[in-house]
Amino acid sequence: MRYETARRHLVSVIEDMVAWQLLNPAGGAVSVRMPDGNILLSCTRLAFDRWKVSPRDFIVLAPDGEIIEQTGGLGASGTPVHLDLYRMLPRAGAVVHTHAPYSLVYASLGLPVPSVTNRADTFGDIPCLLADDSAVKADFIANPVPLDLPAGMVNRPDVAAVSLLEYRPQLEKVIAPRADELQRHGLAFTLYRHGAFTVGRQLEETVDLMLRLEETARTALLQPQLTGGAVYPNRVFRPEWRGAAAQP
Ligand SMILES: [Zn+2]
Repeated sequence: MRYETARRHLVSVIEDMVAWQLLNPAGGAVSVRMPDGNILLSCTRLAFDRWKVSPRDFIVLAPDGEIIEQTGGLGASGTPVHLDLYRMLPRAGAVVHTHAPYSLVYASLGLPVPSVTNRADTFGDIPCLLADDSAVKADFIANPVPLDLPAGMVNRPDVAAVSLLEYRPQLEKVIAPRADELQRHGLAFTLYRHGAFTVGRQLEETVDLMLRLEETARTALLQPQLTGGAVYPNRVFRPEWRGAAAQP
């Protein structure tokens, strides 16, 4: 079995992400790019299996999606998004996709996630990519068009149609031009009514980015409890606060 060390590392990272409530049975996928360019990607049934994961539960794909080594299931329906991100972002070393709860609130409304914490300031914009999944799937089933599906992906062309026809052009337009930002920091975005993606140079960083994304989304959702409804996406630090502590 190829990449045993990387597989064991992925297992332990996935177990941590489950414990931190970033990954849950609703879905998600984790991938890393190996030094030889191949992609090690979690298999589609892992979420359904409540993330009871072993080193065999990853598929090795070539950058074009061909199967290099299959020891478990196939890649999830979001496989094209992972492959697109590695192709568009040459510095990307890992991609994490989750249905984590707080960023999903913003994604459910098609809103970008605001940065309200210092750990999220480094991201830059956190856009929401928009697609009407149900309509695209129904259109595709009624009028299928040829799709260039990765071989190592679960056979759901209607779901892949959403990634390939709707999200790929948006990734090209919104995410690919930000490739140089990966020299300094990772990137994050959400998919409408679906979930979140983070991209970083290596796996630990990319998992931490998902934590950062959830921190800022949760904090922004709670701010109205103190402000009577407003969210402060920008810093409100005032010069006179310098060296002082807020007193009751
Ligand atoms: Zn998903």
